[in-house]
Amino acid sequence: MSNSKSRSVWELDRDHVIHPYTNFQHFHKEGTTIFTRASGHHIEDIDGNRYLDGMAGLWCVNIGHGNRELADYIGQQAGELAYFNTFENAGSVPAAQLAAKLAELAPGDLNHTFFGTGGSMANDTAIKLVHYYFNLLGKPNKKKIISRDLGYHGSTYLAHTLTGIAWSQIGFDLVPPGLVHYVTAPYQYRRGQGMTETEFCDWLVDELEQKILELGPENVACFIAEPIMGAGGVIVPPEGYQRRTWEVCQKYDVLYISDEVVTAFGRLGHMVTSMDMFGFQPDILVLAKGISSGYVPLGATMVSDRMYEVLKTPKKENPSLSHGFTYSGHPVACAAGVKNIEIMERMDLCGNVRELGPYFEQQLRELRDYEIVGEVRGSHFMMCLELVRDKVTREPFPEEVDVTKRVYRHCKQRGLMMRPIGSLCVFSPPLTYDKAAIDETTAIVQASLEATISDLNKEGYGSFII
Ligand code: PLP
Repeated sequence: MSNSKSRSVWELDRDHVIHPYTNFQHFHKEGTTIFTRASGHHIEDIDGNRYLDGMAGLWCVNIGHGNRELADYIGQQAGELAYFNTFENAGSVPAAQLAAKLAELAPGDLNHTFFGTGGSMANDTAIKLVHYYFNLLGKPNKKKIISRDLGYHGSTYLAHTLTGIAWSQIGFDLVPPGLVHYVTAPYQYRRGQGMTETEFCDWLVDELEQKILELGPENVACFIAEPIMGAGGVIVPPEGYQRRTWEVCQKYDVLYISDEVVTAFGRLGHMVTSMDMFGFQPDILVLAKGISSGYVPLGATMVSDRMYEVLKTPKKENPSLSHGFTYSGHPVACAAGVKNIEIMERMDLCGNVRELGPYFEQQLRELRDYEIVGEVRGSHFMMCLELVRDKVTREPFPEEVDVTKRVYRHCKQRGLMMRPIGSLCVFSPPLTYDKAAIDETTAIVQASLEATISDLNKEGYGSFII
């Protein structure tokens, strides 16, 4: 924080804003960087420093920052009809248009959308609808949910319970045990050691089947999974895993919820990945983030015709589907979704990611020879470096070293924003990233890794070769 303007804003922020997922010891010491404007794949802070946005905000600004066409469209919708509710017999043009467009993009008979304001809410809706569905079918015991360790599904009471990141749950009273069960993350590097990719896949698929049998298929309602895991570790499952886990679910009438909050809308080169990349149609598709490129909050829960036919049947005791939010189908948010998708298609951003994704992967993989880089993994514009203290044993750095925060600081000094999560340096740039941005990102990460190694050596944490 250099000048007085930024300092006073920082102080207001520090004194009054509760930041999400924040270590307050660090926060109070270091303060925060206030961002004021952004354009393309760059963001700028209050002191005028410019950074490449290697995280697309938070895996979401897919069309890039400062898109005038989208901003104007949002403004126009706000001027025309900023808000009216969509309860019962009311509706809006953008909500209808967006739901129809999503039905076109989503695979198979996923034709019906319930709108909310983000991914957590969309997952809460998914689970409520699953339970409601089985109640209507006269299967009130079919309620248990299978999620995965390291899965990230959000932060509301229920979504945080679905999230299998153990450290994040510490200190909270979430949904009491019994409802949500977890199976192993498809994380070859740390969970599949000693097995080939095929053996690990067989093991994971069998584990899911055994879990369903142990709980009783008559008690298991659904399985929830991200096609490629995001915040839990940018984990790419073994080949065939997604479809085979879906097949197990099919066998036992367990609904499959595909949480595509991060993976949809181009990050992997497709608008929706479940079918296009992994060859299956989920029963429920959860969307957020890239749906509006983060310009306004929006989330969506899509269900199949089969589910919708049941959901719309009135319950004897209550003829309404009593689930809804003030901002379900918000006209401005849905207008943002409609225009965002139109822009994505016109710019062929999926094509850009399919073309440049392999190059981004290859460039980052060049960094794997550094002694502190345990693994470089990911797919297309969803990548990470996992840092380790010992490459052979895969021992992580002790928490107090805060190794990825060190890399983050060095990247920031050099003009790149990335996201440190535990031992991971995560990259998830806007889909407008070009070759030059990829090269600049890689060069900054490389220099930052070297600077970090040099600090670690000086501070006695090792004698790593640069
Ligand atoms: N699902 C996945 C896969 C996510 O990555 C996230 C957020 O990062 C969520 C759900 C929660 O979305 P939100 O933060 O919009 O509630």
